[in-house]
Amino acid sequence: MPFKLFINGEFTDSSGGEEYEVTNPANGNVVDRVARGNVEDARAAIDFGADALKKEKSSKTNIARILNIVSGLIRDHETELATLMTLEQGKTLVESRGEIKFFAHTIEYYAGLKARGSQVQISDPTKLAVVEKEPVGVVGAIVPWNNPVLLMGAKVAASLAAGNAIVVKPASTTPLSTLKSMELFKQAGLPSGLLNVVTGSGPVVGEELVKNPKTRKVSFTGETATGKRIMALASAQLKRITLELGGSNPLIVCDDADLDAAVNATLNGRFRNAGQGCMCVKRTYVFESIAPRFVSKLKERVAAIKVGDGMKSDTTMGPVHSMIQREKVELQVNETVSGGATLLLGGREPDDSELKAGSFYMPTLVTDVDRTSKLVAEECFGPALPIMSVNDLDEAIEGANSSIYGLGASIWTKDLGRAKKAAFELEAGTVLVNSLYGAGGWEIEVPMGGFKESGVGREYGIEGLESYTETKTVIFGS
Ligand code: NAD
Repeated sequence: MPFKLFINGEFTDSSGGEEYEVTNPANGNVVDRVARGNVEDARAAIDFGADALKKEKSSKTNIARILNIVSGLIRDHETELATLMTLEQGKTLVESRGEIKFFAHTIEYYAGLKARGSQVQISDPTKLAVVEKEPVGVVGAIVPWNNPVLLMGAKVAASLAAGNAIVVKPASTTPLSTLKSMELFKQAGLPSGLLNVVTGSGPVVGEELVKNPKTRKVSFTGETATGKRIMALASAQLKRITLELGGSNPLIVCDDADLDAAVNATLNGRFRNAGQGCMCVKRTYVFESIAPRFVSKLKERVAAIKVGDGMKSDTTMGPVHSMIQREKVELQVNETVSGGATLLLGGREPDDSELKAGSFYMPTLVTDVDRTSKLVAEECFGPALPIMSVNDLDEAIEGANSSIYGLGASIWTKDLGRAKKAAFELEAGTVLVNSLYGAGGWEIEVPMGGFKESGVGREYGIEGLESYTETKTVIFGS
């Protein structure tokens, strides 16, 4: 049975009757078929969302209780959901399990959170002023393929906890684990229409979520170029937007750093999920005096990465998500190397004949990199890392900040003064000091988002919840 859309609490065919195949990046095999949603399906889902919110005015469902049940069900179904994610996305089963755990934790976290208004003392003592946080209404959520369930989970949990209805559009290539998880929301008793999933292409279904006057907010995660298009479309109605976009996150290693820990952070930060994380480490600035030791230790660890099918227990890095994605990374590496950089490791597809049908790319290290090269100037969304030597912290920070992006940044040093300087001067929404990224790439309890062209607004933490509310001031006269 092909996977169906989830609209108004029911699994339904697309109104156009169309379906398409979802394929496994490790071997090109068909994982399953899925309904292809269209504009009419998106409109129906939005209308049901608006109706469900009207019904909620009288039924007043305890959403927090339902979200708690959902998080328990997600944990019970971890293996099933994680397996489906590895088959459609490519990451290792261990990584998929981590993502499902993070999904359950996110739902649980927002179940326990309430937006907090306030009562304000105003100068006229005969009046009472109250600042309320109200739900925005119907939310359109557009999700990429790199962490399909985790990113969907943040939008769904915060929207529902804030009292909204939501329509999710997953990436075309990773709709299955999202749709499977809808069974759990249904089983937990979430009222019909509050949560809907419509598959389909970005320009068709995604743009309808942005343009439809009944969606009051759009929460988008994806490429910066797509985010700019969404911002332009949303401006016609001054629609509320949260944009979580690309990043080219620098990691600075000072000469006093714990070298093994810094190597570990670089390895984990760059190569998990085959380098396809918004918060992944994408550029490294290493103090010249320790660069040879850092590079040699890192090279040894990266050479030991076992590339293969994510379903195999000895695999430590799965394929890049698609042939198109692999081509983008190959082009960035090839042009950087032909521009004079040194290819230290990788830079090619694996030799193993068993992997030829998949979109695999070997973990890649490049040194002597020119700062204007593609690997540095663009976001590299795959397993390739440019390493640059610097003379001091000023040069490292200057290099780190010379990017259109400002999502994450990290520094390794034992010197508090250097750590403080970097924390204050790095232009990024998240700065890590001597720290690995959390299990899902960041931590649920704190806001996440980008400076500069890495985005608008914040997800996660109380800020994430409040981004799904409107602020209303009510003044009571005497
Ligand atoms: P993408 O922009 O190509 O697609 C993301 C989603 O947008 C998909 O569902 C796609 O179908 C949809 N879409 C495409 N065109 C659209 C349009 N015109 N209107 C509406 N929707 C449209 O991004 P991707 O390649 O799937 O994801 C990778 C990117 O996402 C990277 O740049 C990565 O850094 C970024 N990302 C950012 C964060 C963050 O939190 N900042 C998290 C994960 C990924």
